[in-house]
Amino acid sequence: RVSSAADPGLLPRRRAALGGDLSPLFYREPLQVVRAAGAWVYTADGRRYLDAYNNVPVVGHAHPAVVQAIARQAAVLNLNSRYLHPHAVELAERLVATMPEGLDTCVFVNSGSEANDLAWRMARIATGRSGVLVADLAYHGVSEATAAWSTNTYPPSARPAHVATFEAPRLSADARQGVRAGCAELGRSGHEVALLAVDSVFSSAGILTPGDDFMRGLQDEVRAAGGLFLADEVQAGFGRGGRNLWRFLDFGLTPDFVTLGKPMGNGHPVAALITRREIAEQFSAVDEFFSTFAGNPVSCVAALTVLDVIEETGLVARAGELGDVLRARLPSDLTVRGRGLMIGVELPDAAEFAERMREYGVLVGTTGPGGGVLKIRPPLIWSTAEAEHFIEAFQQARDG
Ligand code: PMP
Repeated sequence: RVSSAADPGLLPRRRAALGGDLSPLFYREPLQVVRAAGAWVYTADGRRYLDAYNNVPVVGHAHPAVVQAIARQAAVLNLNSRYLHPHAVELAERLVATMPEGLDTCVFVNSGSEANDLAWRMARIATGRSGVLVADLAYHGVSEATAAWSTNTYPPSARPAHVATFEAPRLSADARQGVRAGCAELGRSGHEVALLAVDSVFSSAGILTPGDDFMRGLQDEVRAAGGLFLADEVQAGFGRGGRNLWRFLDFGLTPDFVTLGKPMGNGHPVAALITRREIAEQFSAVDEFFSTFAGNPVSCVAALTVLDVIEETGLVARAGELGDVLRARLPSDLTVRGRGLMIGVELPDAAEFAERMREYGVLVGTTGPGGGVLKIRPPLIWSTAEAEHFIEAFQQARDG
C-alpha cells in the first residue's frame, strides 16, 4: 500500500477523518511523505528534503541496524512486559549506568508525556505535596497533569492554582529568585512545591542557553524548599547537546527524576522514567503502575540499538562539532542560541522563512513566543556536506 504518486484527495480526507485542527500539519501546502533514509525525506512529488528538524530519528531515518533489530525481534517475540525477558533488564541497566549515582530505578512507558505524568504521581506521594514549578512557555506533555505544566499552550489567566512559573533563562532571569517567588505564589493558593520540572534546552520558550548557575539555582532552590527536581530530557537527551548523552550532565545536576522519550527508539514509541529507588518504593507502597506496551522486547531492542549506534559512531561528539560549524556559518547579524544540534535563530518572519527553506529543499521548524524563532534540530548523523547544504539553503532563503 505504499503509494509514490501525490494524492490530491489525501488532505481533505485527513481533515475530515482526523479532526482538522486536532491534527495540525506543517506548511501551507503539507508535504506528502513517502520514505526517508539518513538525513533525507522523500515526497510523493519526487522531491527530497534535507531534514533539519526531526530529532526523533536521532541516528538517521530508517537506520539499518535499528530497522533490522526491530524486525528480527518482532519475528521472534513481542509480548506484554509481565513476562521475564532480558531486553527490558538490559536496557534498564544500561540507562541507569549513564545516570549519576543514586538514579538506579527505571520505569518504561510509551511517551514523554507518560514519563512526566508518572514522575508527578511519584513526586506527590514522596513529598505529600501538590504544587509544581515550571518555566514560563514550557511544554511537558498531553496528559491532564502534564498539559497543566505546559504553560506555552494556554494564557497565564488559565493557569491552574497548583502550577507556578519561573522565568526561563533570558537576560534578566534569576533562577533562585524565580523559584522562591514561585513557591510563595503556590503558598498563597494553599499548595507547597512537590516538584520542579525543566526542559534544559527550553525548546518551547525559543531555545535558550542557560548557564550552569541558572540550572543549579533551580535544582538547589527547589530542594531547599522541600521539593523534588525533574530533568525533562525528552527533547534534550540522547546526545543532542554535543557534550554528554544527557544535557543535565552538562550542568553537573543530580535530578530526582529524569524523563526520556522521543529519540529513544529512533521513531519506535518507547520512553522511560529514571528515579531513585526510595521514591519508586514510596509510590509502590500506596499506588501501582503497569502499562501494557511499555518495556516490550521490540521497543527495548530498538532503544538498545539506538544506544549502540550513538556510542559506536561517536554521535555525541559529532553533534558538538556539527553544532559549532553551523553556529559559526550562520549569518553573524542574527541572534543564534543553543548548544550542539539544538539551535534557535531569532527571525521575526520565522514561519515564512521555514516555508522558503522548504522551497530550497530543507525542513526546519519554528518555536518560541509568537513562533519567532527558527528551530534547527536535525538527526545527529549529518555529514559535513549536508551541513554545508543547509547553510547554502539558509543563505538562499535569506536572499530570496
Ligand atoms: N517534554 C518535552 C520537553 C517535549 O518536548 C515533549 C514532546 N514535544 C514531551 C515532554 C512530551 O512527549 P510526548 O509527545 O512523547 O508525549
